Amino acid sequence: MARDILDQAAELQEKLNAQALARQLAGSTLGQPSRAVCIDCEDAIPLLRQQLGGVSRCVECEDYYQHAQRQIRQRGRG
Ligand SMILES: [Zn+2]
Repeated sequence: MARDILDQAAELQEKLNAQALARQLAGSTLGQPSRAVCIDCEDAIPLLRQQLGGVSRCVECEDYYQHAQRQIRQRGRG
C-alpha cells in the first residue's frame, strides 16, 4: 500500500515537471531561429548556442542584457 502511494507521488511529480517545462518552453523564444551573430556586439554565436533556438546574443551580451533588464524592472517598481 505505502509503495503504491510512493509510486503515485513519483508519477505525479514527473507530470508536474513535464507541465512546468512545457510552460517554460511556451513562454520562451525556443523554437524560433537563432542569429548567427550577436545582435549587440556582432560576434559569432557558437553553433551549440544557436541550436538552443531563438538566440540573438552571445553569452556575454545575454548576461549583460539580463542584468540590465533586472535593473530596469527593479527601478520601475521603486
Ligand atoms: Zn555579443
